[in-house]
Amino acid sequence: MIVNKLVVGPFASNCYIVGSESNRQGMIIDPGDEAQKILKKVEELKLDIKSIILTHGHIDHIGALKEIKEATKAQVAIHADDAGLLQGQALGAIFGISYPTPPPPDRLLKGGDSIDIGALHFLVVHTPGHTRGGICLLGEGVVFTGDTLFNYGIGRSDLPGGNYNQLMNSLNTKLMVLPDNTIVYPGHGPDTTIEAERRANPFLGG
Ligand SMILES: [Zn+2]
Ligand SMILES: [Zn+2]
Repeated sequence: MIVNKLVVGPFASNCYIVGSESNRQGMIIDPGDEAQKILKKVEELKLDIKSIILTHGHIDHIGALKEIKEATKAQVAIHADDAGLLQGQALGAIFGISYPTPPPPDRLLKGGDSIDIGALHFLVVHTPGHTRGGICLLGEGVVFTGDTLFNYGIGRSDLPGGNYNQLMNSLNTKLMVLPDNTIVYPGHGPDTTIEAERRANPFLGG
């Protein structure tokens, strides 16, 4: 499996380009900003992007969505409970930034859905708390956690749609139960593993 991380935009968001080495099909997770940089990397990796998956609807994860969708024609998927955030500029207004409004999503996700990219298989795990429709994408020994879990950190729950108790419940019942050696690819900052977070994440009683 190819996993390429690009750090984009003013919030240093992680955009992941994930692909299957066998048939060069791929997906983009969280095209937050800098569409041209993302598209250039896709070309370098020689991937045919089939899906664009959004871990949640915050501006720093969707800023380049319109351009990436237009360039790749890939299917855009987001959890149903965050779909409304795509068309709203509410959070952008809070942070004083605007971005091209993306088209509506092609697929509304719910927990338990599968996402298949070539020979790669992922499961949608609904992890509300940072936003109502936040998801993690689990499969192939890794989990993409968006703004739910970071390297020695957790997402904030004070933005609209956030809920601290829900966030802790998502972390404890859906992520901390994963195998120790699961690699964690968060929405900001460096990679980690479930074991390292269970042991030392100060927000998880480590
Ligand atoms: Zn966020
Ligand atoms: Zn973020």
